[in-house]
Amino acid sequence: MSRIVMKFGGTSVADLACIRNVATRVKREVEAGNEVAVVVSAMAGTTNQLVGWCQDLSPLHDAREYDTVVATGEQVTTGLLAISLQEIGVEARSWQGWQIPIRTDNDHGKARIAGIEGAELIRRMQTGQVAVVSGFQGIGTDNRVTTLGRGGSDTSAVALAAALHADRCDIYTDVDGVYTTDPRIVPQAKKLARISYEEMLELASVGAKVLQVRSVELGMVHNVRIFVRSSFDKPEDIDPFANHPPGTLICDESEIMEQQVVTGIAFSKDEAQISIRHVPDKPGVAAAIFGPLAEANVNVDMIVQNVSADGSTTDLTFTVPSSDYERANVVLKKSKDAIGYSYLDGSTDVAKVSVIGIGMRSHAGVAAQAFKALAEQQINIRAITTSEIKFSLLIDAARTDAAVRTLHSLYGLDK
Ligand code: ADP
Ligand code: ASP
Ligand code: MG
Repeated sequence: MSRIVMKFGGTSVADLACIRNVATRVKREVEAGNEVAVVVSAMAGTTNQLVGWCQDLSPLHDAREYDTVVATGEQVTTGLLAISLQEIGVEARSWQGWQIPIRTDNDHGKARIAGIEGAELIRRMQTGQVAVVSGFQGIGTDNRVTTLGRGGSDTSAVALAAALHADRCDIYTDVDGVYTTDPRIVPQAKKLARISYEEMLELASVGAKVLQVRSVELGMVHNVRIFVRSSFDKPEDIDPFANHPPGTLICDESEIMEQQVVTGIAFSKDEAQISIRHVPDKPGVAAAIFGPLAEANVNVDMIVQNVSADGSTTDLTFTVPSSDYERANVVLKKSKDAIGYSYLDGSTDVAKVSVIGIGMRSHAGVAAQAFKALAEQQINIRAITTSEIKFSLLIDAARTDAAVRTLHSLYGLDK
């Protein structure tokens, strides 16, 4: 007997047929003698529609009311799944974030989980009742509904698994595991049997949306075994004698026998580049630029600055999420005199491609190979950042797929 958390994303609960399919899968785990809590997302497309309604009414809407609206998608799914389970003879009850409760801070729209009181759920699971829990939502200290940011149901599921001391957290989605890159872009992508928390964290943070970054962080801190697997595979395709589920296990680095130099490639088109031309090359300039941006809540990512030859002026380039591009421009124009630059330019037609692998710690020249391969494809690199196990390149958005495919082959990841 195991205690498991099963999480189903939007496409897995897209319509009633999908919800029946989920109910069958849950029933199978219950019949195998497991205690089960299920975390569900809103039906595919629902959250986008709810967000759109808020934006249409007011682009600068109140974040508390945004949460009131967007949290409803998950509530619908919990009720429908509980009904569907009851219909096939499985005892089940729905739970909203406030009922458990899943306590969060008050950062509406991107709240962080502070704690989950799991005792009542555990008691009911022990009597054979399936808990069907709304992902993505919680309750803030202001007693109002909060949401955890887009893709947040993954985080709800892993946090719940930690709180319930579950043996594992199965993330069911529309792909059958974590791949070396997005299999929708590169058909040659390979499924990984295992990936370390650290590499998954980097992959997710640079654009692989298969797991929300914070869910991986939580899994790493609380040692939750996370399996990413498909909602749509057939039971007969699953090996009944395997000692773990199919899909990809996210686990500690020590559980992975042989590390590849490069494990995966991710990309994000949600990037914008801003260049500040002719800034004085003197102490205090970076603070004058990035201080006001931070105050305006603009997330700055890559930063490239040249050193001027004669100590006079230089150019400074950085990236922000494309949704922050307009705001960043407004802030910088206001600070023009304080910074003392001559003009701004920028583009939202850029993308960030990142290469990740723990093996980079011990191998030199991994990035240099990429520069050469991209040059051969006439792909221009606008900015570069590196960390211990990752490097990221800013390129023209139109060349994203070509760059990802080139790098995927270069590092021997094609199947
Ligand atoms: P869900 O609705 O189940 O939460 P998401 O759409 O959030 O699903 O995440 C699954 C998607 O992540 C896949 O359909 C796939 O296109 C995308 N994806 C991006 N990078 C990867 C990767 N490296 N491996 C697997 N899927 C990836
Ligand atoms: N429904 C929410 C979203 O679309 C949360 C999730 O699916 O994880 O972002
Ligand atoms: Mg998701």
